Amino acid sequence: MGEKLSITLLGTGCPSVSTTRYGPANLVHCGEMTLLVDVGSGATQRLVGCGTSGAAIDALLITHIHTDHLVDLYQFIITSWHQNRDRKQVIYGPPGIRDFVDATMAVWASERELRIRWEKRASLAAFDIEVHELDNEGLILDQAGGRVSVVMVEHQPVEPAFGFVFEAGDKKLVVSGDTRYCDNLVRAAQGADLVVHEVFVHGQMPVKGTRTKEGLANVAAYHTASTDVGKVAARAGAGCLLLTHIVPPDADRLRLLSEARAEFDGPVIVGEDLMTVDLVECTVCHGNVTFALPSVKPGKRTG
Ligand SMILES: [Zn+2]
Ligand SMILES: [Zn+2]
Repeated sequence: MGEKLSITLLGTGCPSVSTTRYGPANLVHCGEMTLLVDVGSGATQRLVGCGTSGAAIDALLITHIHTDHLVDLYQFIITSWHQNRDRKQVIYGPPGIRDFVDATMAVWASERELRIRWEKRASLAAFDIEVHELDNEGLILDQAGGRVSVVMVEHQPVEPAFGFVFEAGDKKLVVSGDTRYCDNLVRAAQGADLVVHEVFVHGQMPVKGTRTKEGLANVAAYHTASTDVGKVAARAGAGCLLLTHIVPPDADRLRLLSEARAEFDGPVIVGEDLMTVDLVECTVCHGNVTFALPSVKPGKRTG
């Protein structure tokens, strides 16, 4: 049973507050590993919403240091303890993540000490945090029938920013993290069964309030336009494209879909919170809706 490979989108939103698209976070089952990719706002609620909890997470992978991707870090750590976690936390992230974790723990230290003394729980292991700072590409996990690799993506001025490649058996899943169109990601995603990619929908974030034209152009410039995202999947020869980190979160789904499909012939799915794509079962599940994905990549189809 070592070849499990699936992703559940816990949050498909971005920094904008949305009641339907929570902050970026993904639950990945890779081999026998249970992994959390990013821990945006609402991630712990969504973990419980899909029947699991922070106690079950073997490792937390952080794509980059942007608030929307790790604002619920402390919430994840403290609730894992409440959820009876009795083993250390393991966190992988970019340089700077160790200071970030240490500072986050320090802010809450006195409150935590009081809580620990009062609640008298049997284990404090959930507060023992093993941090791995990643400064290069390559394999970071190869265990329990799954493999995880880091890919550099382009989200400057935030550097480095990572995407992740998950492999189990003959299946391959790629998560883009936040990036503009990135040739390096396309290379890493070659032959992937599923590319999970961020997207920015042009024209759907108007200049209003404190927004400026220049600021909006900057936001667009470090994300991937809805008119470009299909190219990533097409050039990677991917089996399926799943869109997430939808900016803005209330973007028109049909327009987004048609723009992405213009560049990619395979299945394109506009992601929703708590949607699961299972690459071994070749299924997509969301709420009461379940449908099958083609089990053969479009490029390999015969006849
Ligand atoms: Zn983001
Ligand atoms: Zn970002």
